[in-house]
Amino acid sequence: MSVFSTVEMAPRDPILGQSEQFNLDTRPVKANLGVGVYFDDAGRLPLLACVQAAEKAMLSAPSTRGYLPIDGIAAYDNAVKALVFGADSEPVQSARVATVQAIGGTGGLKIGADFLKKLSPDAKVLISDPSWENHRALFSGAGFTVDSYAYYDAEKRDLNFDAMLASLNAAAAGSIVVLHACCHNPTGYDISPGQWDQVIAVIEARGLTPFLDMAYQGFGHGIAEDGAVIGKFVAAGLNLLVSTSFSKSFSLYGERVGGLSVLCTDKEQASRVLSQLKVVIRTNYSNPPTHGAAVVAAVLNDPELRALWERELAQMRLRIKAMRQQLVAGLKAAGVRQDMDFINRQIGMFSYSGLSRAQMLRLRNEFGVYGTDTGRMCVAALNPQNLAHVCQAIAQVLE
Ligand code: PMP
Repeated sequence: MSVFSTVEMAPRDPILGQSEQFNLDTRPVKANLGVGVYFDDAGRLPLLACVQAAEKAMLSAPSTRGYLPIDGIAAYDNAVKALVFGADSEPVQSARVATVQAIGGTGGLKIGADFLKKLSPDAKVLISDPSWENHRALFSGAGFTVDSYAYYDAEKRDLNFDAMLASLNAAAAGSIVVLHACCHNPTGYDISPGQWDQVIAVIEARGLTPFLDMAYQGFGHGIAEDGAVIGKFVAAGLNLLVSTSFSKSFSLYGERVGGLSVLCTDKEQASRVLSQLKVVIRTNYSNPPTHGAAVVAAVLNDPELRALWERELAQMRLRIKAMRQQLVAGLKAAGVRQDMDFINRQIGMFSYSGLSRAQMLRLRNEFGVYGTDTGRMCVAALNPQNLAHVCQAIAQVLE
């Protein structure tokens, strides 16, 4: 008998499975709003000019490919720290942030999860209800019991902030709370700066450990604006973990570029934390890959390329916003009588459309418009070519 004879088939990833279905769909007009990827107005995945410029410079002075240090490229880690906390911020100036390069934002979350599991084996992890579906799997996979805190009210199609605060108030001391720093995935609803203050006060009072997932810095209101929430945690004197992803903001999905930053109490503590993060990395994949982080470091550390990146990122952010507005207007023009203005109050790549599973299935089967069964649509995949069709299709299923 084979040792593998009892292996069960794992369920297919719901979103990636749908993309396969989309690619096989032969209808001439179709739209893939399922996967969380930014496409430009022509429906193409962008290759940013800042990335191309950095790669061109790298090609003209080719570098060898030795092992990187366990914690990655130092210039990259410093750039991540500066982006997340601010170059002149007190935590960076006093060297109390431990930052490591990670394999995408997912890798940052996983390093943090493994580190926390060793430190607080009995802590529970709380994620938002709903959340990015990999949060639960990732923290459960790291050995944690994962519960959720209230976040979204499906009936009101809005945040349920009172319920969120109540859940956090009821959390056991020492629980780890995973928070979306901006551009909440999947709902598209972020809490306001004032609401962050209230959340931070509860985290402090209950002795919770905040873990911020920052997968979309710059996709919401701007790089500094989206990062401002970190400053609030710093001001409150809390310790925290922040995972960073450059998948979306640099359109470098396949390069797997991310990071983990841990805000410690002082420099000496940060060096102990860093040593433990390195143990986690060493025993998982030894050290990170070279290319993606070298590109990001080259862009972030060069004033001209950095300015170019900021312009390109702003273009992506503004295009998504314009698509939201055109979606709302298009739905109205297509005869939708319900108030769909909530789509303009959402932020980032996604919209929780409020459509039911049955309506989402109809969209897919009858109109070739693919979103998730939960009603999430990627607004960043809308473009002038598919918008009218998407609006017509939604209008039909809402009738
Ligand atoms: N967190 C959230 C909330 C995300 O939406 C994503 C990407 N879909 C990630 C983390 C993971 O990012 P990466 O692809 O860089 O691993």
